[in-house]
Amino acid sequence: MKELVVQHPGQLAWVNVPSPLLTSPRSALVRPIASASCDLDRRLIAGLTPFKPPFALGHECVAEVLEVGDEVTGVRRGDLVSVPWKIACGECRQCLAGRATACTAVARHAAFGVPAGGHWGGLFSEVVLVPFADAMLVPLPPGLNPLAVASASDNLTDAWVAASRPIASRPDARVLVVGGTESLGVLAVQMAVAAGAASVDYLDDNPYRLDLAQRSGANVDPGQVLDERYDVVVSATRDPQALHRGLLALAPGGHCSCIGIIFDDPKIPLFGMYLRDVTLSVGVCNVRPHIPKVFELVGSGRCDPLLVSPTIVSCEDATEALVQPLAKCIVVRERIT
Ligand SMILES: [Zn+2]
Ligand SMILES: [Zn+2]
Repeated sequence: MKELVVQHPGQLAWVNVPSPLLTSPRSALVRPIASASCDLDRRLIAGLTPFKPPFALGHECVAEVLEVGDEVTGVRRGDLVSVPWKIACGECRQCLAGRATACTAVARHAAFGVPAGGHWGGLFSEVVLVPFADAMLVPLPPGLNPLAVASASDNLTDAWVAASRPIASRPDARVLVVGGTESLGVLAVQMAVAAGAASVDYLDDNPYRLDLAQRSGANVDPGQVLDERYDVVVSATRDPQALHRGLLALAPGGHCSCIGIIFDDPKIPLFGMYLRDVTLSVGVCNVRPHIPKVFELVGSGRCDPLLVSPTIVSCEDATEALVQPLAKCIVVRERIT
């Protein structure tokens, strides 16, 4: 089977490797049919992260189930499923507490598409082994467009959790989204609107994303003085200064969800945050429990993830499409079941 591999920084290629086999009665083999690029992927390809090549790329997809082990009950051959980015058992203390990202049954940070806790393959590959099928896979409801939820494995659900969780406890929340990565900011705008925000402002310096954010329901001209104006800030930027500006924009009692990955230690205006009793949350997203809600939002038209994924390509064109700037892209493959 073919696997999409980051071989060296900047060098992406399809490589022939042995097809994986079921490893336990709880495992499944799936074939990705719609794989999306995560906002991290272009930086992974370029070698601009702590995760060094070679490794198989991809951690967002909808796949068809090819084969399941004897103990798998939740899915069967032919089902379309979302494949969460994180490898997790569903049974350890951390998983049972809803923290699949801290699963103790596998190496720390074990995930598809990054060489952080071993090599688990990538979700652009032709066939992928899912070690804990029932704990990980989420079947698509009938009629849901697989392309529209290709990103439910990570970015789309991350945006929902980052926006909806703080909005839920802050009625009529005034929301600021600080954009900067390919899709997360615009998706967070859509999710903030879907979660019932009273208003959503969007901050970015990129005209393409500003247009997408406006079409998603944001005011993209919030003015110059933002300090202490917002109940909820979603920081979807890699720019430490933009995060800093977002933190200053928090009103007393506010919450900032930081979902843009910053590898360095940014400057945090901690004393002012202390005086305003605000919260900063940062962390990888436990997507699995939230994927059904995201399916519902997409299915009912309350968000439109394809707005940030205008490029849909075949596997032959994937290596070129995945290094293009600005937008997410989706790589498609024919079903065989
Ligand atoms: Zn990701
Ligand atoms: Zn676990």
